[in-house]
Amino acid sequence: MMNVLEFFRNLPKKQCSNCGKTIQEQADCYGNLCEKCDHPAR
Ligand SMILES: [Zn+2]
Repeated sequence: MMNVLEFFRNLPKKQCSNCGKTIQEQADCYGNLCEKCDHPAR
């Protein structure tokens, strides 16, 4: 079995470039903004 969990733990956590909040989402479409800063209705 592959160490999938360890693989994800080694990944650098994304950080919002606007508020500095750590982004837990793995979606690439969010870029460097958290879900709050990236909210289209804002
Ligand atoms: Zn943010």
